Amino acid sequence: MTQTAQQMLIDYARERLGEKGAIVDPADVAPWLVDWRGRYRGSAAAIIAPATTAEAAAIVGRAHALGVSLVPQGGNSSMVGGSVPPADGSALILSTRRMNRIRSIDAAAGLAIAEAGVILATLHDAAGEQGMRFPLTLGAKGSATIGGLTATNAGGTQVLRWGTMRGLVAGVEAVLPDGSVHDGLAPLKKDNRGYDLNQLLIGSEGTLGVITAVTLRLVPAVAARAVAWVGLADPQAALALLRRLEAATDAIESFEIIPDDSLGLVLAHIPASRAPLNGSHPWHVLIEAVATDLGHEAPAALLERLLAPALADGMVQDAVIAANEAQAAAFWRLRDSLSEAERAAGPAAQHDISVPVADMPRFMIDAACAVEARFPGTHASGFGHLGDGNVHFHVRAPAGVDPVRWYAEQAPSITSYVNDLVIEAGGSISAEHGIGQMKLGELERLSTPARLAALRAIKQAIDPAAIMNPGKLVRLAPAGAAP
Ligand code: FAD
Repeated sequence: MTQTAQQMLIDYARERLGEKGAIVDPADVAPWLVDWRGRYRGSAAAIIAPATTAEAAAIVGRAHALGVSLVPQGGNSSMVGGSVPPADGSALILSTRRMNRIRSIDAAAGLAIAEAGVILATLHDAAGEQGMRFPLTLGAKGSATIGGLTATNAGGTQVLRWGTMRGLVAGVEAVLPDGSVHDGLAPLKKDNRGYDLNQLLIGSEGTLGVITAVTLRLVPAVAARAVAWVGLADPQAALALLRRLEAATDAIESFEIIPDDSLGLVLAHIPASRAPLNGSHPWHVLIEAVATDLGHEAPAALLERLLAPALADGMVQDAVIAANEAQAAAFWRLRDSLSEAERAAGPAAQHDISVPVADMPRFMIDAACAVEARFPGTHASGFGHLGDGNVHFHVRAPAGVDPVRWYAEQAPSITSYVNDLVIEAGGSISAEHGIGQMKLGELERLSTPARLAALRAIKQAIDPAAIMNPGKLVRLAPAGAAP
């Protein structure tokens, strides 16, 4: 690839898409060259922004012919540097920002077709207007796009009941690396034509093509919800409570665990935040229960009925049910602000990990003790989706360290140590954020030869010129290298 080839693609984009389709002013490009956490900084001569599938196909086809690499980008909320272009300027960004139409919402069928650049919160609102909802949400809902969520097989806070994007996507349309279009939007309940290309594209992190539109499953809108904040002694008590709730009802949508020190960071760094409970508790859980019709027991009454015995027998230390929607939103804001508060508090090595659900409480405690003993001065704890066996296990740096040096010199060995513990526990080093550039080395270090060989063979088959999102998720072995 030469600078000339990139310039030829930019010229072609300007001619084919108009001025809005080729953004070259460095001031307009700059905000899209750095990730949300500020950990990865890339370089790109332009952002190419097609507005339709046909335009995206034309751009990718021309990039393929010219040998120009492309980095698909949606809301740039990736937690693993997945949407940041390489630092050497060897790729252009292909943004889906202009492919932002909701093509249809069919409330009766429970389906929506959204283009890749539709922002999650926009889809939530549009579905709500039709008495429906898309049951996946996360802290970045104001910027994360349907294409990005699909490309990362995102999870979020309702996986407990509704699963990840893999379960919520009923069809995918995508431009493959040679510019051809895969039309898999039809919501087929049964389709046994061999390998499932839609599922391959879900979670492919932009390395197998550009997702241009997605058919999504909708569920009936919530008629009432209740949000409880519970204080308890340890993660074991939290899992016992979850099991008890699940045995009694299928109305629980979210069950998020939060250590007291993480709540403390939110209270310290996020304006207007208040602790829901009086007194101090080592651990907290946020629980949401919903009802889709008002004929059943109201969710607040349900939670009250189920939490009362847990309080009486000491399984939980204290609990409060949000008195109104504003309070419920305030509880959720505490949960959704955890990453932001931690970012404000200083450097941390972050690990989005999973182990079997039943093993997670013990893992959280044992791994935190092991890490703190091995790396004195650090503080390790996990928060998040306990019911999915997925927590964000973060190791905060000792106070007063130089962040740049700490990230360069200390964080990698902490991460390797944590990942080794995860693998020993039979878990995954990426539960929901993907691999991106952040976890590529660790994926290679810790994957079985069978997994690595299969990942590389798939990449080689679909993107042999390796123009799609170079340096993310999977690297093709250099010619002649041992697999
Ligand atoms: P981007 O960040 O732009 O891209 C992400 C990856 O997808 C990149 O590899 C990119 O190349 C690729 N990509 C983007 N669009 C396309 C496309 N159209 N076709 C092909 N590839 C594409 N994630 C969770 O799963 N659960 C959470 O609870 C969660 N909470 C978060 C909270 C905060 C505050 C933040 C900042 C992030 C959180 N995330 C979470 C991560 C993030 O929101 C997801 O990774 C999201 O799915 C990315 O969407 P995006 O549009 O921003 O994609």
